[in-house]
Amino acid sequence: MAKMRVVQVPHPKGPFEIVERPIPEPGAGFVRIKVQACGICHSDTFTKEGTFPGLEYPRVPGHEVAGILDAVGPGVVDWTPGQRVGVGWHGGYCGRCEPCRRGELFACQNSKITGITTDGGYAEFMIAPVSALALIPADLSAVEAAPLVCAGITTFNSLRNSGACPGDVVAILGVGGLGHLGVQFAAKMGLKTVAIARGKDKEPFVKKLGAWHYIDSQTQDPAAELLKLGGAKVIIATVTDGDAMSATLGGLAINGTLMVLGAPQSLTVAPSLLIGGRRSIKGWYSGTSIDSQDTLAFSALTGVRAMNEVFPLERVAEAYERMTSGKARFRVVLTTGA
Ligand SMILES: [Zn+2]
Ligand SMILES: [Zn+2]
Repeated sequence: MAKMRVVQVPHPKGPFEIVERPIPEPGAGFVRIKVQACGICHSDTFTKEGTFPGLEYPRVPGHEVAGILDAVGPGVVDWTPGQRVGVGWHGGYCGRCEPCRRGELFACQNSKITGITTDGGYAEFMIAPVSALALIPADLSAVEAAPLVCAGITTFNSLRNSGACPGDVVAILGVGGLGHLGVQFAAKMGLKTVAIARGKDKEPFVKKLGAWHYIDSQTQDPAAELLKLGGAKVIIATVTDGDAMSATLGGLAINGTLMVLGAPQSLTVAPSLLIGGRRSIKGWYSGTSIDSQDTLAFSALTGVRAMNEVFPLERVAEAYERMTSGKARFRVVLTTGA
């Protein structure tokens, strides 16, 4: 039987092991993907460290997958071998549970999480249900596509569902793996894009990404600076520091929304601020496969790209270390050579 190389985590906090497994056959409603690239995401620490409830081992991490559809299982229609596809965090939906029946596919009660509750993309091949597939446009490489189906979709989909209209002031809090994409998406959507980060040195960089204005939260009060610009219709909070998020709330315009993408322990908010100006705080879940597909298409159309550091699959330990060090600029992507 033909074999493939996969990177598995044998147990919580275990090392990455490169092992051979038989190339799996897709079951009914599933496809096999020949993986070309897979991003390493901060959320992969769930699998590596065993910090996600109910994890089973060994597990192959990776939910920023880009590759070529290689085989289809019984009953699969509309998808054919040779198509270029991506798979993100959302590992598909059932279509039958109550949230699915209400059209809220992202909240499917039977949904899998790629690389966490099912084996993911740190591998030469993987299996995915058709409801997890996003088409990759011809003019995006696999390495370009991979981070867009996680960091990309999260920022793109939150922005387009934020209520902001072209010309509105929108702030992106944090210019890291998510934020450097958020700034680009916001600018390409025609939003008056304000980047907020720590340190004066980031200003030329965010301007190059398309930001209209920069606020250095080390030396400036972000809320006061946003109010000078008329207040932010939307703040996309990509950081994981609750105090940094709370410090921007006073900069929301009337009817403004703080969209929470990062997950700090807690937030501090003065309810009077919410009531008086009808402001709101809203969480945003990345999205489903069609949202990934839209993200990829928009990126191809407008030139939005993640900045990636690329490592071959066998250097996974080094690549993971690079990502968790926080020093990567800005995403780390594994390639299989396929
Ligand atoms: Zn991710
Ligand atoms: Zn469902």
